Amino acid sequence: MTPKQLTIALAGNPNSGKTTIFNNLTGTRQKVGNWPGVTVEKKEGNVKHAGYDLKIVDLPGTYSLTPFSIEEIVARDYILEERPDVVIDIIDASNLERSLYLATQLREIDCSVLFALNMADVARSRGLKIDDRKLSELLAVPVVFTVGNKNKGMETLLEQAIALAESDRSAVQKRKVKYSKDIEDAISKVEKIIGNHNAGVIPYNIRWTAIKLLENDKIVTSRILEKTGNIGEKILEDIDNQRNFLIDRFDDDPEIVMTDERYGFIAGIIMEVLASSTKQRVDISRNIDLVLTNRFVGFPIFIFFIWAMFQLTFSLGAYPMNWIDSGIKLLSSFLAQALPNNIFKDFLIQGVIAGVGSVIIFLPNILILFFCIALFEDTGYMARAAFLMDKIMHLIGLHGKSFIPMLMGFGCNVPAIMASRTLESEKDRTLTILITPFMSCSARLPVYIILAGAFFGAKAGTVIFCIYLLGIVLSIITGRLFRSTLLRGADAPFVMELPPYRIPMIKSLMIHMWDRSKIFLKKMGGYILIGSIVVWTLSAFPLHISYSKDYASEIEQVQRSYHAQMIAATDAEKSVLQQKMDLAVDRIIRSQAAERAEKSYMGRIGKIIEPVFAPIGIDWRGSVALLTGFVAKEIVVSTMGILYAADQKKDSKALENALVSSGMTSIAALAMMVFVLLYMPCLATLSAIRRETASLKWMIFSISYSTMLAWIMAFLVYQGGNIIGA
Ligand code: GDP
Ligand code: MG
Repeated sequence: MTPKQLTIALAGNPNSGKTTIFNNLTGTRQKVGNWPGVTVEKKEGNVKHAGYDLKIVDLPGTYSLTPFSIEEIVARDYILEERPDVVIDIIDASNLERSLYLATQLREIDCSVLFALNMADVARSRGLKIDDRKLSELLAVPVVFTVGNKNKGMETLLEQAIALAESDRSAVQKRKVKYSKDIEDAISKVEKIIGNHNAGVIPYNIRWTAIKLLENDKIVTSRILEKTGNIGEKILEDIDNQRNFLIDRFDDDPEIVMTDERYGFIAGIIMEVLASSTKQRVDISRNIDLVLTNRFVGFPIFIFFIWAMFQLTFSLGAYPMNWIDSGIKLLSSFLAQALPNNIFKDFLIQGVIAGVGSVIIFLPNILILFFCIALFEDTGYMARAAFLMDKIMHLIGLHGKSFIPMLMGFGCNVPAIMASRTLESEKDRTLTILITPFMSCSARLPVYIILAGAFFGAKAGTVIFCIYLLGIVLSIITGRLFRSTLLRGADAPFVMELPPYRIPMIKSLMIHMWDRSKIFLKKMGGYILIGSIVVWTLSAFPLHISYSKDYASEIEQVQRSYHAQMIAATDAEKSVLQQKMDLAVDRIIRSQAAERAEKSYMGRIGKIIEPVFAPIGIDWRGSVALLTGFVAKEIVVSTMGILYAADQKKDSKALENALVSSGMTSIAALAMMVFVLLYMPCLATLSAIRRETASLKWMIFSISYSTMLAWIMAFLVYQGGNIIGA
């Protein structure tokens, strides 16, 4: 006897746990491909169960089956055309109301549907009590509780699916989603119109077809035309009459009225099956939302929170930053005394400690920033921020939801790009990933602080703010550009989920903060350490350099002449002379260091690439710094530290002073900041882009686009600035 074949499709909202359940059911026997003609992932797997051969298909996650997005069309077409034996609707039990919209639509399509109330654990922990028997009775659908990530309920799910496939279908489909009388009348009339013209040509459930025709569903109307030939026009005309009748009655499009009625129906189900222990919380949340998502005060409050976040990050972060800074200084001066003078000592102090140290001092800022972001997320405010930003994000052709990864991008682009996973549409995801790197991450901040601090004095804060703003503006422009060219597509209407507010748990805040900061620390131990070592090595070698002058004897000469003057001087004059002498010696040492840097391997590389950066006002040292910054943007600062020979004088403004005396102009500094803001994402970000878009192509595209944009913008700033300045 050959085993009986059954096809089971998994439908459900995004994040309802479909893929998890799919994996539970199929284990490793999966086939991953794309749905024909579109780049929506298709997963299939085969399992044997109780003498059946089951083919399980993971449908794209959708909130409804109106043909607005590719995902919805793919899921609906599959159910209509491939006619799976059973459709399991994976319902997020902790979010029953939202999930039921898709559920009612599946019921209307008249496929054999089974509800899996997944996330049963979350629902329980939130105190939600769902009356599964009532739900099953109201919709005449079998209901099974599951916990996907614990692999619970899978056995029952399969059993019920098989039982449903084997049951008498006509008995199952008694209950309907009911509409108001006028609509029900129109539905029966349309059913008759289709019936008169031989229902067999349209292979779908007749009530469903009638409803879709009343809703003016483009796909169904075109299928009618295609199947019924020349009488199709007539049919559609009759249906239009019914539509017009309803439009006249309700003063609104039938599809809108019917959607409203479906929600009414769902609200009714919720009243019946959901115990009200959570109702109070929901009410409190609604009241808070009256203020926080208010049309007038919502936005200012949001801006205030963002401002407070940055304020906290930088002002509170300054204290631990200073502690770490002194700790590092202490360590290197200790090592300077403890170790014998040799190349290893230089390597340790100037390479490793200076390099990693110049970056690790930003750890407190990053911890605070990520703490704030975790706070936004865990309280539920992040969803409101997304809601508020929705209108603005639509300028780019994205949803408010894409704003979350972008906001996180201010911390670090890597977790930000990972956060774009929550976006279900592939195009939205790719677009968000491509514009996130223009959100200036915390790694770029040290560069701005140094450059703006050196060249803009009291205006540094404003300049840095403008740089951030430039990043945001360019991400909007880029978004629009890509949306209308490479990633074309309308943004599908979408239900913005507003979970109830919650008092965050310290533990989970800490975990969220730590998870993301860990990436920063890993970068420290990996890319940045290696980058610093490479930079130091290239600048320390070759060891022996033939200098253009004999610096040692020059120093000796200077000292001799000052000592000669000191013999005849008074004590007061002596100390003045001593100071002058120190300065002169220092100047010679600096120019020796500068010559050595110029003749090192690093210097030679810098000279080669200098022509590329000359038009944007950056000299060879800056060029090398930018080159190394590709590993991680923080390295720009440490490379500048090494190359501008700033380690000669141990004060905290050393690098700033060295930059000013190197002949860099403030316009050039501004151009450099712009370049650092925009040019290619760091290694870690690139690998995240590669991973999340699953494509080398987008990664390479991101490198070329951002670097080109950076150069052009920096060029405009530098040349434009010079013209205005001159
Ligand atoms: P999909 O978008 O519907 O494919 O959802 P996924 O299968 O990717 O699941 C989304 C997230 O929910 C994952 O992190 C899962 O581990 C988690 N998840 C799935 N089922 C359950 C469940 O029953 N309980 C809980 N607590 N988490 C679940
Ligand atoms: Mg999935």
